[in-house]
Amino acid sequence: MYATLLDGKAVATATKEALGPRIAALAERGVTPGLATILVGDDPASEVYVASKRRTATSLGIVDVHHHLSADVTQDQLDGLIEQLNDDPAVHGILLQLPLPEGLDGEEAVRRIDPAKDADGLHPENLGRLILDQPGPTPCTPTGVLRILDHYEVPTEGRRVVVVGRSFLVGRPISVMLSSKARNATVTLAHSRTEDLPALCREADIIIAAVGQPQLIGLDWVSDGATVIDVGINRTDDGLVGDVDFAVVSERAGAITPVPGGVGPMTIAMLMENTVALAEASAYVAARRRA
Ligand code: NAP
Repeated sequence: MYATLLDGKAVATATKEALGPRIAALAERGVTPGLATILVGDDPASEVYVASKRRTATSLGIVDVHHHLSADVTQDQLDGLIEQLNDDPAVHGILLQLPLPEGLDGEEAVRRIDPAKDADGLHPENLGRLILDQPGPTPCTPTGVLRILDHYEVPTEGRRVVVVGRSFLVGRPISVMLSSKARNATVTLAHSRTEDLPALCREADIIIAAVGQPQLIGLDWVSDGATVIDVGINRTDDGLVGDVDFAVVSERAGAITPVPGGVGPMTIAMLMENTVALAEASAYVAARRRA
């Protein structure tokens, strides 16, 4: 393999270790961060993701509050649970695992989450803050991608980035974050209607794939030395694969994330970091009220 491996698992471990002193400082103030996860239905992939998030929270000393609702729950019942968690002082972060089963409106449910408890950074108020470059919780997967770039000192300033996939969960926030004045990349946000995507990607210094199509991005999409970040997680008969054909692209790219072990672990680490930051913000507000 020619490319440098961008080891998301290692970066995630370092990110979680850095939370230790912050969690200890909160404990000294009598605060234990709490993360509430909501899983609706029986989607096997969602079950795996939520189990992993809960395990990680527990391992860090974050209180794990979990609600598993059946797929036939009503929107009102789901909204009611979110309101209840909004009012629970032991819960600092709320994660609603998406997508929701048919018949439920995920965007509406996310809007019900108190923006001050929005551990996933997907509430419209927090996405608005992101566009305005204001502080607040940022979406976990996009933030995890940026942390990998930072960790390996991949420059973004003035670089041409092609983000493939424009979902509000991944591609769109990444494009906003990379085109911010802090990052100064020149970003093209591509999607299923983009023409001649391989040619567009060949012009890129950095390609970020968030599509959900197994191994879509092949050798002729990538220029020599480009950085390739693979967000995709696709379950195939051969196991988990990304949106990038790793075996061939890693012979041409300068740096590449693997699947698994790339962006996935970072998503979970950023969820933990967001939860701790929300607990810190809540403790700060409580202390100011008392003063
Ligand atoms: P999504 O909501 O389905 O969005 C997919 C995007 O890809 C859409 O914008 C779609 O275009 C575009 N697209 C689909 N086929 C395309 C093609 N042939 N060429 C170019 N663009 C194409 O998916 P998502 O939630 O963003 O997730 C994307 C992938 O990332 C999935 O594999 C998911 O499992 C994975 N994921 C991983 C993590 C992690 O932690 N690693 C977190 C979240 C998601 P249109 O808008 O035109 O339809």
